[in-house]
Amino acid sequence: MATIHIRNLEIVTLNEDGTLLHDADLVVQDGRIALLGSAPVDLQPDEVIDGRGKVAMPGLINSHCHSPMTFERGWAEDLPFDRWLNEKIWVGESALTSDDVYWGAALAACEMIRSGTVAYNDKYFYMDRVAEVVRESGMKAALTWTVFGIGEETEMGRGLAGTVEWIKEMHETGEGRVRTYLGPHSPYICPPEFLSRIVEYAHELGQGIHLHLAESEDQVKQSLERYGLRPVQHVNSLGVFDVPGGCVAAHCLAIDDTDTRILVEKDVHVPHCPITYMKLAMPFPPLEARLNAGVNVCLGTDGPASNADMDMFATLRQTALIDKYQSLNSEMIPGDTALRMATQNSARALGFDDMGVLEVGAPADLILVNIDAPHMRPTHSLIANLVHSAKGADVTDVMVDGRWLMRARELKTLDERRILYEAEQHAQSMVQRGMSQVREYKG
Ligand SMILES: [Zn+2]
Repeated sequence: MATIHIRNLEIVTLNEDGTLLHDADLVVQDGRIALLGSAPVDLQPDEVIDGRGKVAMPGLINSHCHSPMTFERGWAEDLPFDRWLNEKIWVGESALTSDDVYWGAALAACEMIRSGTVAYNDKYFYMDRVAEVVRESGMKAALTWTVFGIGEETEMGRGLAGTVEWIKEMHETGEGRVRTYLGPHSPYICPPEFLSRIVEYAHELGQGIHLHLAESEDQVKQSLERYGLRPVQHVNSLGVFDVPGGCVAAHCLAIDDTDTRILVEKDVHVPHCPITYMKLAMPFPPLEARLNAGVNVCLGTDGPASNADMDMFATLRQTALIDKYQSLNSEMIPGDTALRMATQNSARALGFDDMGVLEVGAPADLILVNIDAPHMRPTHSLIANLVHSAKGADVTDVMVDGRWLMRARELKTLDERRILYEAEQHAQSMVQRGMSQVREYKG
């Protein structure tokens, strides 16, 4: 593979010491970072790029999303969570086809690359089609095919046994860029016997589990009524946190101290998606208790139907801002913490543990961000500018495993014009077809 030499960069490494490099070289060889600092004069690269006016940083990692839901962007607005699900989202999805999923996911991949995301943890249906998008785009992803366990007719594309077969074919394919999770929707939908079967499969396959958990006090109340246990303790009692590939439990907004202790002890990864919580008016506590306790809190956008975009720069900025505001403590979520949550913490949730840092030997999964722009000057603190001033559109270049996915704002792996056209057609057609209610959320 090629040797790429990027010169004159500002570099935010996010290594253990938080090293920042000024006017530095970055050399990529065979898909990995080979040098940071000063390149030897006799280096003979295949490609030399002038990085003046740009900062290099680890690519952003979206730890929880439903990428094909781009086709429901702007279609379920200004509704409470139960009506948003029952009257719009699940109705639209009742007509979902695998082609809709492919084009919705392709649209999301264009958006993610353009805003500096290199890897994502995606939970949806027809994930064989999302895997095609991952392979074609050059991104990395952990993919979860969601199952409900309340009757075959409610499953989208495949039931549990079908998704197990899919995982056997798919896990660690695409040059290692595709990973998989088993995907129960949540303990408020999935019966306990069904969750137990998934735990058994996880042990058999050496897999992890990615689900939604403890999103509201109503769900806690309902769980106590049904099972006598809070949601975190209920799924813990079923062994959901003890599976070999680990557990990603999205949200965990309604948790108490015992729940927090369990999440730490069992090393559960907890994606935090504050823009969705604000848009759907879901109460959520400040992050201090869980961060101090040692929970691996990572950042995600959630689906574009409940966020409206997949720009991780927006998410990390909002994470810092809302937490300062909620806790009335401006020292909360300093810039370095926000960036680590959106990179290396998220990387662990995807099972790509070596991502999220720029250091020699790490995979070359990185982005260049333009700092030659009015809102990015002056450069007293690159970290502060990246968290509080940068936007996804400031990302100029994106590389995964040493391969350019975007160069000078041009997508290199995806046919963006065709994707915009097809995604629009499929989105319009799907919402017209979706007329039946398939499930009911009563949380
Ligand atoms: Zn979600």
